[in-house]
Parts: sequence; structure tokens; C-alpha cells
Amino acid sequence: MNEIIFLGTGGGRYTTLFQERSTGGIIFKIGSHQIHLDPGPGALLRCKECGIYPFSTDCLIASHHHLDHVNDLNMMIEGMTHATKRKRGTLIATNTVISHTINNYHKNLIKDVVSLVPEQNTSLDEIRIKAIKCEHSAEDCIGIKFYTKNYCLYYTGDTFVYPGFEKNLEDVDYLIANNILPGGKESEYHMCTNDLISALKNSVNKIKLIIITHFDLTMLRNGPESEAGIITEKTKINCIAATDSMVIKLK
Ligand SMILES: [Zn+2]
Ligand SMILES: [Zn+2]
Repeated sequence: MNEIIFLGTGGGRYTTLFQERSTGGIIFKIGSHQIHLDPGPGALLRCKECGIYPFSTDCLIASHHHLDHVNDLNMMIEGMTHATKRKRGTLIATNTVISHTINNYHKNLIKDVVSLVPEQNTSLDEIRIKAIKCEHSAEDCIGIKFYTKNYCLYYTGDTFVYPGFEKNLEDVDYLIANNILPGGKESEYHMCTNDLISALKNSVNKIKLIIITHFDLTMLRNGPESEAGIITEKTKINCIAATDSMVIKLK
């Protein structure tokens, strides 16, 4: 089974603090694996609401140490390790997350702790996982590409659309973009709709579906669905806006 479940689609401090959208991260069910990416505030509660069993998670990924991505990480480690009773699972994260967000007690519960910098790879059985460069307001931050035998799925993480970003799109089938800002709302740390459109137009890509997520309050006021419609219109690639609890089945 290959499935994506959006526990949360909120991003940035205001959306997070007021929970205008949930911030529990994203679940990927790929083959026999249950991967929980960026378990922000409310991740545990959202697992319960969406029928996700934390004991079934065998891989946690944290793209960077901002709280909308890692607040519930230690809690989810307790889930992955069966209430601390079994040393199991894999954590893939930046060095700052591993050295500062997680205490030694929780770190020692995990079977494999993997620190990645951009361009480094690791694997989870048959899935290759590659870290991709981000330009963001954190000391270190990574996007993630999952390579399975059928597709490449790219989660951008929090990033500005830096020069050369379009090269990341070349081998991608499914794109999950943290398109936090609407229109041409510029930020040196985050992606806006117009910059994402430019990168897509400047790339040679075979993307089948774009899912935008991680919305700040200005994006929510503008309406993520209309921004997704603009992306579809300008790039001719099907783009949808994620909603809390949305499930996508991958072919
Ligand atoms: Zn964020
Ligand atoms: Zn961030």
C-alpha cells in the first residue's frame, strides 16, 4: 500500500499557535513501512483522530528543528519504540534536531539514528531517502526525496526557491511543496506561489501531481485551493491544496 495522510497542513508560527490548521506532520505508508514526517504540535492527537497507530511507525523524519516540525518528536519516539519497551525504528534528521531537540534518553531508545546533510542518502530497506538542500531560517534544514521502484516523491521542506532549485524537480513524480505564502508574497526563508510556478516552468520535469501544504495565515486567507488552481493553470500540471486528514493513494 502506498498512501499519504496529511495529519496537518498548517505552517508558520501564527497558524501553529492558533491551530488554524493542524500541525501533526505527514504519514507515508510505503510498502510495509509507516513513516511519520515532521511531527509538529498535535501530532499524537492527530494520529488518534486519523486512525494512525503510533506503534506501527518504524521511521521518523524531522526536516529541521522549528517547532511546527518537531514539537511532538520525543512523544512519537515513545510510540515508535512501543512505549519505550523496544529498541526499534529509524530516525532521520538534521544534526541540530539530533543534538538539541532530542535528549539522550529518547535517542537511546531508537535502533538507528541517521543525520543527513543535503545530497546525502540513506535507505529504509527498498526505499532510498535523499536529503535535499533548503534555504531557510534554521541552522540546518533538509528537504526529502523518497525513491521507490515506482516513483520519486519530493517533500521540499521549508525553503526559499533559491537559484538552481528547479534542478531538484527533474526526476520527481509527486511533489509536496511547503508553499507557505500566496501569490508573490516574498520571503527570504519561504516559498510563495509565484516562485514555485517559476521553478516549475524553468525545469524539465515529469511531475504527475503537486500537493501544496504548510499554509500560513495569509495563505489561508487567500485560499489555498485558488492558489493551487493558479499553479495548475500556469504550469499545466495537476496541483491540489492539502487539507487536514486528506488521504492520497499513490499508484
Ligand atoms: Zn515550517
Ligand atoms: Zn521552519
